[in-house]
Amino acid sequence: MSSRRQFLATATAALGLGALSACNKKEEATASASAAKQETIHWKMVTSWPANFPGLGTGASRIAEYINTLSGGRITVKVYAAGELVGALEVFDAVSAGTAQLGHSGAYYWKGKSRAAQFFSSVPFGLTAQEMNAWLFYGDGMKLWEETYKPFGLIPGAGGNSGTQMGGWFNKEINSVADFKGLKMRMPGLGGEVIQRLGAIPVNLPGGEIFTALQSGAIDATEWVGPYNDQAFGLYKAAKNYYAPGWHEPGTTMECMMNEKAYSDLPADLQAIVKAAIRLVNHDMLAEYTARNQSALHELESQHGVKVKSFPDDVLRELKKLSDAVLDEEAAKDPLSQKVWASQKAFRDAVAPWTAVAEGAIIHARNL
Ligand code: CA
Repeated sequence: MSSRRQFLATATAALGLGALSACNKKEEATASASAAKQETIHWKMVTSWPANFPGLGTGASRIAEYINTLSGGRITVKVYAAGELVGALEVFDAVSAGTAQLGHSGAYYWKGKSRAAQFFSSVPFGLTAQEMNAWLFYGDGMKLWEETYKPFGLIPGAGGNSGTQMGGWFNKEINSVADFKGLKMRMPGLGGEVIQRLGAIPVNLPGGEIFTALQSGAIDATEWVGPYNDQAFGLYKAAKNYYAPGWHEPGTTMECMMNEKAYSDLPADLQAIVKAAIRLVNHDMLAEYTARNQSALHELESQHGVKVKSFPDDVLRELKKLSDAVLDEEAAKDPLSQKVWASQKAFRDAVAPWTAVAEGAIIHARNL
């Protein structure tokens, strides 16, 4: 103890001011805590979506709004559309580097960073939205996703779901697997790989270029999302055969990733608020898609002459067989992908009988 501090301590004790001094310290501590409370934290969220893009972009904005409101304004989140701060496919790197604290996107875009990432959005003949949430939150899914993103300084979050997508728009009917031969179809990712094995030519085009490509005949078919988003793109003007189901994306999970350092710097209550806001929109987005898809589907059929069709069973059987082969081969390329796919595949095979006797049976019964 320095002589000055010793002197002050002695003097304080001698004057009977110990209690007063402690009281001052307490007030100072309270004052600085409330100053810290009032200090606003400014976060950025980069996204892979055009501004206010229905479902995906609006979902991302709702996460920001919930964080702002639930935190009483202690965190403000500014949302950036694709290209405003970073490009659509630079979201992962931007959040990893801390340029933004949050990123709203789809994990299958990051296959080039870590192959295992693609199993956390949707895979051909994989999990439905409900099953995906079951695997993520009550199976090993989230733990494995955290393991996959940890090396990049990222914490993953499930940030929405499109629900079951549509199989796509075709300018001719699909009556057998032979109809895929030579078919130029916009279908990115693993689904594209599967149709390639049927002799199709998969094409990867960004959303904004799909309509023109389909209308000009540069492609014969395309998948996009479902009635809500597909109607907005006007795809019904370029092709009339609208096929179900979206076997390649049975329930696509969106993501809201966080920069690990930014998250760990938050006090515990704000951490809980950020996670809760993301979790809220994870469920909310599915409700939005379900509500909007049904009205858009009705309009497409009743006002735009769209013919909704199902792929024949033997086509789906072949697609499933090829999908399982593609997935097994893809997963075998590295140990983490192998571990993630093994977990998800086992979960799918275990949950399928339950879904069949629950959702499957009631849907069948309701349509009798
Ligand atoms: Ca899609």
